[in-house]
Formats: sequence, structure tokens, C-alpha cells
Amino acid sequence: MDLNTLIYGLGISGLFASRAFIPAFISSFMLRYGEYFPILKDIDFLQKVGGGEPSWFTNGYVITALGVLSILEIGATKIPEAEEALESVNKYLKTGMVAATYFGFMSTADKGFIEGNLMVMQAGFMSGIWGTISTANTYLFASLRSSILEVLFEADQDDDLGLRKLISWAEDGWAVIGFFWLIIYPIVVLIILGVIFGSAFLLKKHYDRKEEKSKIDCGECEATNYPSATECHSCHAPVASPVKVGLFGQSKSDPAEDVAKHKLRLAEKKRCPACATRLSERNPHQTCDTCGHELFKNSTIAKDYLGMVAGRLPLVLIISLGLSFIPFLGLVIGVIIYRIQLVAPFRRYIPLHRSLFIKWMIRLLFFVLIAVQLIPGVGGIVVPIMAIISYMAYRGSFVKGLNLSV
Ligand SMILES: [Zn+2]
Ligand SMILES: [Zn+2]
Repeated sequence: MDLNTLIYGLGISGLFASRAFIPAFISSFMLRYGEYFPILKDIDFLQKVGGGEPSWFTNGYVITALGVLSILEIGATKIPEAEEALESVNKYLKTGMVAATYFGFMSTADKGFIEGNLMVMQAGFMSGIWGTISTANTYLFASLRSSILEVLFEADQDDDLGLRKLISWAEDGWAVIGFFWLIIYPIVVLIILGVIFGSAFLLKKHYDRKEEKSKIDCGECEATNYPSATECHSCHAPVASPVKVGLFGQSKSDPAEDVAKHKLRLAEKKRCPACATRLSERNPHQTCDTCGHELFKNSTIAKDYLGMVAGRLPLVLIISLGLSFIPFLGLVIGVIIYRIQLVAPFRRYIPLHRSLFIKWMIRLLFFVLIAVQLIPGVGGIVVPIMAIISYMAYRGSFVKGLNLSV
């Protein structure tokens, strides 16, 4: 195995870890049209394999299909609901696409081989080892990437802060530009990948260790519990003084004074009100996998929950009214505040397709309202209106899902 093989194999799996179709599309496009790019013209192996009769991988239909899939991929990764739905198959899709791309390169190499371009073989791209390294490593990198992003997804499930969207655009950019860099400066790409995945790995380790260390022993049995739990997940003995949870559902250091309110707060952050385990389903009626607690079991709890969110309405409206007078920035901050305070408590318990439908209906309505915001005076009421409409739409859908008389 030569060094080139290793470098390209590792580098390419770093690109496929982020996106399945974009790197495949760029591969096929470059193999076919690489000779027309001024920077790539001098790259040895592209000269050898590019041009001439296209193979199945550099066929116009395949390039078009991969291009369309890339656009769909860019779109889907911008919608938290779609991204979440994709997450379960993502690793396999990426691993599959890197293997397909490998065979794609092979197919052009065969052609080059027949035409006597033996140089292609020396590019390192074509050896079986390259395929094995890239495929195995893509699976590894993609798994690592998922586990890091999972922390972020858990913390901000519906991307109320917009951070996920930012990362997503950065990954799109990386999948495109990284490919050209890999060809021109392979070592630079390897260093970037090493830094990103190395620090991500350490960060994940640190997070897991912190989470595990923060757990407290149950006084009655052998089990350890989250510090924010209200009862032991194993023997159900009450926890003496559970700690508060923060904006992202993370455990804080100060104790929660009112346990009944704390339980609602745990439910709001999509953690089990009893053992504080993160809940996975987007449905108000679900049973905790760890302790068997039934969420929103009766209408009293559901009523209290709705009451808690409703109680925030006046203050959020006053704040967003004030923010409305600051053009653009006020709108952005106002939207983040009402999303976290009024919408998130409901949206995380609404099924994906329904949540997506509500989102687009509201967007359509907001499109008009945001345009008005730019006119001083009239603009003042726009953010509060957006807050009320969103609150009512998501609350309505949540109540429907509850199926209790509240
Ligand atoms: Zn216990
Ligand atoms: Zn539980």
C-alpha cells in the first residue's frame, strides 16, 4: 500500500462523512469534465481518465441523477425534521455511496487501462485497498459525526437557535470545496480532518464522562440516577433534592425548589419527569424506556403543562413587542425567544410530518408579515403577532395529539 492510497482514502472518507451525494456528484462530474477546469487540468490522473467515452459512472444520466440528489440532500439537511428522519439511514447511505464512487473510479480506470493509460493505476485511487480504507473509514467518521451532532440535536431539537443550519451550510461547503482541495493539497485536507475529528472525538468523550460523573447514587438501591431526576429509575424512591435543568435540558447545580414544577420543566425539555432520561418519541403519549413512566398520563398533568406555557405568554409578548422596533436583529432575537418559550414545549411532541406542515403554513403567513416589519410604526406588532400565531398553531396540534379533555 503506498502513501497516496492512504491519503486519498482517508481524505475522501472525511468528505463522505458529511454528505452522501455531493462528493459522489463532484467525483463523476470531475472525471467527465475535469479537463475543462483550469486548476484541475494539470492533475495527472484526471488527464488520464477524463474525456473520451464516458463509463457508467461518468454517464450524463448518472451525473444528472447525482446532481439532483445532491440538491435534495442540501435541502433536506436544512430542515430539522427531514434531517432527523434521515439520520437512521445516513451512515449506511454514505458508506454505500463511497463504495459506489470507488467502483465509479474503477470503471473509468478500466477504460483508461484499455487505452493504455497505465499511469492511472499509480494515482492510488484505483487499488482495492483504497476502496476498503475509504469505505470502512467513512462508516467510522460518519458514526463519529452522528454522535457529536446528536448532542447538539438533543440540546436544540428544532434548531431554535439556528446553529444546526449554520453547521449544515458549512458541511455543504466542505463537501464541495474539500474535494478540490483533496486533489490539489491532500495533506492540508488530512490535517483539517485530523483536527476536526480529533477534537470532536475528545469533546464527545468529555461530554460522556461529565454526564456519567454527574450521576448520583440512589439512597435505597444500587442504581445511579441523573441529578435532575425526581425519582430513582430502578426502585422509584424519591430523589431528595433534584437539580434544575437549563435551557437545553442540561442539569444545573442549583436545586429545584418546587418538584411539581420541576417535573413539568423536565417534560418541556423532553426528559422523563421521573428519571430524567431523554425521551425519544415525538408524541405526548409515550412510556419512558428506562423507568416505565407514562408521559401526560392524565388531564391534570396535561392542564398544568399547558398552564405553564400559557403563563409565559404576556411577558414574551411584551419583550417581542419591544424587540420589534429594532429592524432585523430585533426580529431574529424575538423569533428565537418565542420559539424556545412558547413553541418548543409543544413542537417536540408533534409528529414530524404534522410539525413540518404547520411550519410551512405559518411561513407562508409570515412571509407577508415580515415584509411589513420593515416599515417603522406598523412593524411594532409583527413579532408579537408571529408569536401568538405560532403559539396557537403548535398548541392546537399538541392538544389534538394529547387526545384528553383539557
Ligand atoms: Zn433506587
Ligand atoms: Zn423515566
